[in-house]
Amino acid sequence: MPTQTLSFHPRNHSSSHGEVSSSNPISTHIDTAVALFDLPFNELLFQAHTMHRAHFDPNQIQLSTLLSIKTGGCPEDCGYCPQAARYHTDVEKQALLPLNEVIAAASAAKARGATRFCMGAAWRGPKQKDLEPVLDMVRAIRGLGLETCATLGMLKEGQAEQLKEAGLDYYNHNLDTAPEFYGEVITTRDYQDRLDTLGRVRQAGMHVCCGGIVGMGESRRQRAGLLVQLANMNPPPESVPINNLVQVEGTPLYGTPALDPLEFVRTIAVARILMPSSYVRLSAGRRELGDGIQALCFFAGANSIFYGDKLLTTDNPDATEDQALMARLGLSATHVDAPPTNEHTSCTPHAHACTAN
Ligand code: SF4
Repeated sequence: MPTQTLSFHPRNHSSSHGEVSSSNPISTHIDTAVALFDLPFNELLFQAHTMHRAHFDPNQIQLSTLLSIKTGGCPEDCGYCPQAARYHTDVEKQALLPLNEVIAAASAAKARGATRFCMGAAWRGPKQKDLEPVLDMVRAIRGLGLETCATLGMLKEGQAEQLKEAGLDYYNHNLDTAPEFYGEVITTRDYQDRLDTLGRVRQAGMHVCCGGIVGMGESRRQRAGLLVQLANMNPPPESVPINNLVQVEGTPLYGTPALDPLEFVRTIAVARILMPSSYVRLSAGRRELGDGIQALCFFAGANSIFYGDKLLTTDNPDATEDQALMARLGLSATHVDAPPTNEHTSCTPHAHACTAN
């Protein structure tokens, strides 16, 4: 018999006692999210898996491949990121890749089973001269029949529309963490900058890919706070990448006490419950989690992974390892017949960070 139950009704600002609060729905949500985190592990996973089954085939995983199209030399100061110019890491700077190399990488990703190809560039934001070659890449990749995604930093007025026009399906811009912890990690751009870029992405009619990083020294309440920010977007992001910090020597967050892997599973479970219709993606740090923890994450509601040997600049399980794990778990890859049409309802803008760790 369960020792404790707590059910969350998405899009309903109810507290854990079922009372609707109109005065401060955000804080109620945080309390609700913290209460979910605090559930006994099996209870939380049961609720998350039940929610997952109600919205998705629990045996299917969406596969995205991420390529760094411009690496290093970034002027920002994200404390986790080896691509920041100010930190001394082993990352080698790489200018924007030529179109033919990007097309070759996308074709190889498609042949391995990926359905979405994401391009990451270490910029504060693209200048117009940067954006134009990226638009050509988007057109070419869409021509291969892949969904397209890009993470290029902050967007200025009009840039999201150009990306949409070229055929970009998703724009990634992460919130990274809760507003209360954000200043501990990044100082060169603020939370509102991220929300403004996300607002432009929504306004242009693109899908939003937005998540964050855990294991940066934040509290459980702050992990809950990140998920609440994401869930309170209207609509929530279609894709929610959850990164497990990969600590890179030379970055300020190197040496941070590691997060308990079971707390990472809890984070996935709460994300699934709060955002039942979103794809929840295991992103950076999968290699460190190992097969058993990843299997628990899939049970808890993760249904997307970054697939390929490299995740921008850090190691990722190689494709054959992932295929073997999926076979052991009886998971199959989600197929897409055609990229989505990008039809959108209006929304409230709510966050970039490259998935750069
Ligand atoms: S996460 Fe992105 S914006 Fe931040 S330092 Fe790294 S490349 Fe630059």
